[in-house]
Amino acid sequence: MENKPANRIQDYLVFGEFGGVNPSITDSSTFTFLTSEKMSEIFEHEIEGCYLYSRHMNPMNQFLSDALALLENTPDAHVFASGMGAISCTALQICSAGDEIVSSRTVYGGTFALFKNIFPKLGIKCNFVDIINLEEVEKAITSKTKMIYCETMSNPMLEVANLPELRKLADKYNCKLVVDNTFTPMVISPYHHGAHIVIHSLTKYINGASDTVGGCVCADKEFIASLKDVNSGYAMLLGPTMDSLRAAGILKNLRTLHIRMAQHSKNASYIANKLKALGLDVIYPEHENHPQHNLMKQMMNKGYGFSGMLTLDVKTDEIATKLMPMMQDNLIGYFAVSLGFYKTLFSAPSHSTSSEIPDDMKDQIGMKGSLIRFSFGLDFDIERTYERIEYCLKNVGLI
Ligand code: PLP
Repeated sequence: MENKPANRIQDYLVFGEFGGVNPSITDSSTFTFLTSEKMSEIFEHEIEGCYLYSRHMNPMNQFLSDALALLENTPDAHVFASGMGAISCTALQICSAGDEIVSSRTVYGGTFALFKNIFPKLGIKCNFVDIINLEEVEKAITSKTKMIYCETMSNPMLEVANLPELRKLADKYNCKLVVDNTFTPMVISPYHHGAHIVIHSLTKYINGASDTVGGCVCADKEFIASLKDVNSGYAMLLGPTMDSLRAAGILKNLRTLHIRMAQHSKNASYIANKLKALGLDVIYPEHENHPQHNLMKQMMNKGYGFSGMLTLDVKTDEIATKLMPMMQDNLIGYFAVSLGFYKTLFSAPSHSTSSEIPDDMKDQIGMKGSLIRFSFGLDFDIERTYERIEYCLKNVGLI
């Protein structure tokens, strides 16, 4: 059956107090009880519709969590104050001292630094692999491996992970497949293709306004309950709690995600084709020469395109250094990290979001200083944007 995330979000109807069309924001950190028995009971197990303390859960965060579970079609979800909060709590919930992680080497720089620099101090070892090379992934798995970790579409090389094959490996070695779907919400539904757990940085496409950070974990009920457990849940006890006012804003923005994803993709596709026609070195998964083009076509949902991310190699670091502020001066967008904003954002990952990755690994991945990552915005007139880009490319002597 065809997977339709936009329809599931559309059919999610929540009423506010007094019949509001948006759920009411609960402006409370703690909640009252009418009997002592009920208060004791909630410390033992969750009671539907009953709240204890906002770090554990509150009504507004629950509404957003429910909507995100519908987005990814998972039985349950939980929101966090940031994407890194979601990633660190998930990994710690799965792995303890002595355990191992097999992670793609092309992950967001912060995730890479967490696995490489912090987890070894806690006794958790991480083996970084080329996630496209399934033999290499299998070889890196040991009896201690508890988690295979990757991004659906990797940051910033835009490699697409073969989720069904990775799930087979996870099943064979009894570990969890955890997938960061930040680059491709609605475009790909990892849970449908085998992921046990799907993570998002809500900071990016899902919120889409670059006004807050946020994260979520979408998974089965058992895993989400384990994160919230008052005695052993990392979400509950490390405390990366989303503020309910922010949750209300993110839920409203989630309502337009399907339209935004389609427009981001349309704009990125237009520019990718134009840059390719100029003979430039572009990475965009819609192009047939992208190594995982066919895999992406098999996994993607209809109607949202190939996402709004595009990587361009401008040949030298010097050109990249000159080009990015020039593009900002020419109103193409902002020279800034992050992605999924309604304006175009661009930066050189090697010197910014992936600077945590060591130089030898960058060489192996092909992540040069001359690579510029674009997150295309919602421009109405993308032809005009292209003319501006062309002007800048001529100005730096690239074309
Ligand atoms: N995952 C990906 C793919 C990212 O790009 C980022 C941030 O850039 C994160 C996770 C971390 O999310 P946050 O900044 O919301 O903590």
